[in-house]
Amino acid sequence: MKESYSLSGVSILTEGSFLENSSIKINRDKIEDIGSLSGNNMKIKDNLYLYPAIINVHDHFRGNYLPKVGPKNGTFYLNWSYWDNDLKSAPVYEEREKNTVEDLYTLSMYKNIFAGVVTVNDHYPHALNEQYISGMPIRLITNYAIVHAISSFALKWGDSLKVEHKRAVENNFPFITHCAEGFDEETQSAIKTLEKNKCLDDHDVLIHCIGFSDEDIKKVQKVGATVVWCPGSNMYMFNVTCKIKKILEAHINVCIGTDSTHSGSINILEEMRFAREVYGKMYKEEISPESIYKMVTINPARAFRIQPDVGTLENGKQADLLLIKPGDQDPYKAFVNLQMEDIELLTCKGNPVYGSLEYEELFKGRGVEYTKVKVRKKNKLIVGDPVGLMKRIRKAVGFEKVFDFIPLDD
Ligand SMILES: [Zn+2]
Repeated sequence: MKESYSLSGVSILTEGSFLENSSIKINRDKIEDIGSLSGNNMKIKDNLYLYPAIINVHDHFRGNYLPKVGPKNGTFYLNWSYWDNDLKSAPVYEEREKNTVEDLYTLSMYKNIFAGVVTVNDHYPHALNEQYISGMPIRLITNYAIVHAISSFALKWGDSLKVEHKRAVENNFPFITHCAEGFDEETQSAIKTLEKNKCLDDHDVLIHCIGFSDEDIKKVQKVGATVVWCPGSNMYMFNVTCKIKKILEAHINVCIGTDSTHSGSINILEEMRFAREVYGKMYKEEISPESIYKMVTINPARAFRIQPDVGTLENGKQADLLLIKPGDQDPYKAFVNLQMEDIELLTCKGNPVYGSLEYEELFKGRGVEYTKVKVRKKNKLIVGDPVGLMKRIRKAVGFEKVFDFIPLDD
C-alpha cells in the first residue's frame, strides 16, 4: 500500500492563489502539505494544472441514459410532472429498464468520473440507492435529507417535508429538494410552502428554482439557502432557466448540477459550458470562469456542509485531486474548457480513479482494480471495467448502444 506520495512540478490552484511549479504531498486519504515532497515523488514533466476534483451537486443515478426525453413540436412543459409522464411512457425508458439497476448506477458513476467528478449526490431516497452507492470508489453523499419536490403531487420520496427537514437540522445534513420547477400556482408557491412549514433555512439545497419571484430570491438570500442551477435541463424542458443574475447578485450560494442525461447536459463539463453560453445569451455579458469554477467546487461543498473536508486544495482536506493538461494559461479558463480526455489524474481520497498511463504505479500501489481504455485516442487507466459494462448493456438492449458521456474508442 502506497500510503504517501507527492506530485511535483505542478501548478496548483488553491483558494486565492495559483502556485506555479509547486508540489503536493498526499498521506493516505488527505492532503498533508502543499509545497512539500515525500519519498514517493512523481515529478510531472509537462506543465499540468491541479484543482480540487469536481462536485456534481445534482444527479439521478438511475436516470443517466440517452436519448433525452422532452416536450414535442416546439412546446414546453408547465412543470416537471409532464416530463415525468413522458419519460415513463417513452420507448427509451423501456430500453433503459432492460439493464440491471447496478449497471445503471455504474454507468452513472462513469458519467461523473470521465468528467472529473468524485463527489456527487444521487437525488433519490436512501432506501432505494444505499445498496448501489455504498461500495463506489467515488464519494456519493449519504448524509442528506430529501423530498422529491415541494408540491402535493411530488413523488413520494423519503418521509414528509417536516420530518425530513427536521432530520437535516438535527444531523447537520443538507435538505435537498427540487423546488419551483415549473409555473403552475402550486409549484411556484414552493418557497411559501417551505416557509409555512418552518422548513426554509440554510440547510436547504433548492434545485432548479425556475419559478422564483424576486420575493422568493430575497427570502432564500435572507436564510442562506443554496440554489442549484441546472441550465441544460431547464432550457430543454422549459426553454427558460432561473433568474441566475439576480440570484448571484443576491450573493446566494449557487451550484451547478447536471440533473440526469434524460433532460440535462451529458456531464458537468458540458453543463459548465452550457451555463456560460446561456448566461451570455440572457444578459449579453460573460459570467466569469472563476464563478463557474466555484459553483462546482467550494459552493457545493458548502451546500452539502462538507466544506471542512472537500471543495478546495488545503492541508488536511481530502485528497480529491483533478490534474489536467491545460488548454489555456489562465487556470480558471483552462478549468471551464476542460475536455474528458485531458484529465491526467483524478483521485478520490488519494486513490486514483482515472488517469494517464504514467500513473499505473499509483493505481497498483493503492490496490485499485483498473483497466486500460482508449479515450478519444488517448490511452488511459480507469477504476473498474467500463468496457465490460458497455458489453453487458449492449447485450441487455440487443444493439450497439453508445452514450456521449462514455467517451471510449471501440
Ligand atoms: Zn433532478
